[in-house]
Amino acid sequence: MKLDARIPSGPLAQKWDKYQFEARLVNPANKRKYEIIVVGAGLAGASAAATLAELGYQVKNFVFHDSPRRAHSIAAQGGINAAKNYQNDGDSVYRLFYDTIKGGDFRSREANVFRLAEVSVNIIDQCVAQGVPFAREYGGLLDNRSFGGAQVSRTFYARGQTGQQLLLGACSALSRQIGLGAVQSFTHSEMLDLVVVDGHAKGIIVRNLITGEITRHAADAVVLATGGYGNVFHLSTYARGSNATAIWRAYKRGACFGNPCFTQIHPTCIPVSGDYQSKLTLMSESLRNDGRIWVPKKTGDQRPPSQIPEAERDYYLERMYPSFGNLAPRDISSRAAKRVCDEGRGVGEFGRGVYLDFSDAIERLGVATVRERYGNLFDIYKEITDEDAYQVPMRIYPAMHYTMGGLWVDYNLMSNVPGLFVLGEANFSDHGANRLGASALMQGLADGYFVIPYTIGNYLATQKPDQRPKASHAAYQEAEENVRRLTKRLLDCKGKRTVDSFHKELGKVLWEHCGMGRTKAGLEKALKLIPALREEYWKNVNVPGEEGDLNQSLERAGRVADFLELAELLCRDALHREESCGGHFREEHQYPDGEAKRDDERFAYVAAWEYAGPDRAPVLNQEPLVYEEVKMSTRSYK
Ligand SMILES: Cc1cc2nc3c(=O)[nH]c(=O)nc-3n(C[C@H](O)[C@H](O)[C@H](O)COP(=O)(O)OP(=O)(O)OC[C@H]3O[C@@H](n4cnc5c(N)ncnc54)[C@H](O)[C@@H]3O)c2cc1C
Repeated sequence: MKLDARIPSGPLAQKWDKYQFEARLVNPANKRKYEIIVVGAGLAGASAAATLAELGYQVKNFVFHDSPRRAHSIAAQGGINAAKNYQNDGDSVYRLFYDTIKGGDFRSREANVFRLAEVSVNIIDQCVAQGVPFAREYGGLLDNRSFGGAQVSRTFYARGQTGQQLLLGACSALSRQIGLGAVQSFTHSEMLDLVVVDGHAKGIIVRNLITGEITRHAADAVVLATGGYGNVFHLSTYARGSNATAIWRAYKRGACFGNPCFTQIHPTCIPVSGDYQSKLTLMSESLRNDGRIWVPKKTGDQRPPSQIPEAERDYYLERMYPSFGNLAPRDISSRAAKRVCDEGRGVGEFGRGVYLDFSDAIERLGVATVRERYGNLFDIYKEITDEDAYQVPMRIYPAMHYTMGGLWVDYNLMSNVPGLFVLGEANFSDHGANRLGASALMQGLADGYFVIPYTIGNYLATQKPDQRPKASHAAYQEAEENVRRLTKRLLDCKGKRTVDSFHKELGKVLWEHCGMGRTKAGLEKALKLIPALREEYWKNVNVPGEEGDLNQSLERAGRVADFLELAELLCRDALHREESCGGHFREEHQYPDGEAKRDDERFAYVAAWEYAGPDRAPVLNQEPLVYEEVKMSTRSYK
C-alpha cells in the first residue's frame, strides 16, 4: 500500500494557512445534511463533537461511559503546553515545534507538529473563554510551570486537575449542542465494529452496555477519539476502562496501525506494592519542578532517608543531565531510574523506587507555597501510601502511561480508510517515539477544536449530501453479525479462568519483554508466549452472565481479546525496529553511556501495519519521515 500523508507543499510555516485556504468547503446550508459519528468524549472527542455541531453538522456522539464527563482525560493532572511566551523566557511557536520533534526523537511528522505548535496558542484563549480556571499569578495573569524536555515555562495548569477543568469546558460546549439538538448523545454505548462501504467508513456497530442491545449507525464520516491503548500492559496509570477495542476493530477493517511499539513509561508513579493491584497511580510530572530525585550512593542502603547525609545521596538526574536535571524527558528519566534500581540502589520494600524529595523546596518556598502548587497530589499520595510527603520524600517508580502509537493518519487526521478520522491519543500523529509532558492535552484539543473542523469538510465535500448508505445495507448486516458472533463465542467458552487473570499475565509478559528495555531474544520469547496465551484464552476463559444484560465481564472479555492480538503487533513492531529511539529502547542499540542509539539510515519512517487476515502476518508499510526544516541530530539533554 502506498501511504500518502497529504502534506501541503510550501514552506513549513505556511502549510496550514495554505491548506485552510485551499481546502474544499461545505456550504452552510449543506452542512446540516451530513451526519458525523464521533466516538469518544475525552478532550479530543468532546471538543470535536461540540465544534462540528457548532459548525452545523449533525453529530452523534458515543461513549461507553455513563456520561461524556467520565472520559479518562479527566485524570490529567499537570498541565497543557502552549507557545504563548507569557513568561518572556524565550519561547515561540518554533521552539515548541522543535522541542516536540526533538522530544519525539525525530520520529514524528514535521508538518503535523508545526501545526500543533501553531494552534496551541488558540487553545488557551478558547479554554479561557469557556471559563476554564487556569492558575493565575498574583497580578491576575495566567501562570505557567515547566515540564520535561523544555527549558522554558510554557505549561498552563489548574492545580493538579488540569484535565478535569479542560474537560468540564469541552463538555459544557458539548452539552450546549446536546441541548440544542445538534448532538445526539449515546452513553453506555460501546462501538464494537466499523462499517466500511465501498472502501469508505460509513458507520459503526454499537452495544448498549445496560441492555445488551446491538444497533447499527450510519453516517457520512466516522471520527474515532477513543484514547490510548496502554492498558494492554494491565498495570498502568490509565483509567481502568480505557481500551483499544475501537481502534483495533478499525484496524481489522483496513486502517493501518502506526508505530504500535512507541509506548511511554512515566518516571513519576507510585511503585507497585503487591500482586493484588489493578492499576497504578501517577504523581504528576509537575512535581519535578520543585522535587529533587535521588537514591543512596551505596547499594543496599536501608537507612531511612532522613538519616542519609547529603554527601551520601546521588541526585542522579542532576548529575547525568545537568542542563535539564530533574526535568529530563520521561523516557530518559525512566531508564535512569531503572538503571539505579538495577544497580541495587532502589528504595522501598521491593527496591523498585527512587526518592522525590521536597525538603529543599519547602525550605526555599515555605510549606504553604508547596501546598498551594501541589496540595491535591500530596493528598493522593498520602491516601495511597499513608505517608506524608511534606515530612518524608515520596517514593516513585516508572509505570506504563501513554501510547504514542495509534491508527495512522494523514495531515487531515484521516486514516487510510477514507472517511475515518482519528483524533487525540488514538492516532499516532504528533509525538514520535516519546511524548513530552503536557502535550497530550494540547494535541487532543488542537485536533478537536482547530484541525478536524477544517479537514473533515475537505472530505465531506467529495461526498454527496443526503446520500449516505442506509443501515440496511449488507455491510452493516455483516458487521453486526460479526459482533454477535464474537459475543456468543466469548459467552460459550465456559472455561475456568477469569478474564482478569489473562489480562494480568499478558501485562507481565509485555512489561518484562516489551517495557523499558527490549531485546531481540525477549521479544521473540514474547511472540511465542502471547499467541499461546491467546489460544488458551479462547479455550479456557470464563465469562459469566448473559448477553442481553449489564455484564461487565463480557465487556472486559471483548477488550482483553483485542489486547491479546494488539500485544503481538506491539512486539512485532518492537522486534522489527532494530534501533533505539525515545521510549523504544532496544538494549542492543545503545551508546557506551547507555543513551539510545537511533538508526536514521534504516528507520526514519513511520511503521504502518496493515491487517492481512486472522492467520496471516500483518504487512509493514512505511511512510518515510522527511525533515526539511530540522536537522536530525543525536538527542542530548546533558
Ligand atoms: C494519570 C494521567 C495524567 C495525565 N496528565 C496529563 C497532563 O497533565 N497533561 C497532558 O498533556 N496529558 C496528560 N495525560 C495524558 C492525557 O490525559 C491523555 O492522553 C488524553 O486525555 C487522552 O484524551 P483523548 O480524548 O484522546 O481520550 P480519552 O480521554 O481516553 O477519551 C476516550 C473516550 O473514548 C470513549 N471510548 C473509548 N472506546 C470506546 C468505544 N469502543 N466505544 C465508545 N466509546 C469509546 C470513552 O468513553 C471516552 O469518552 C495524563 C494521563 C494520565 C493517565
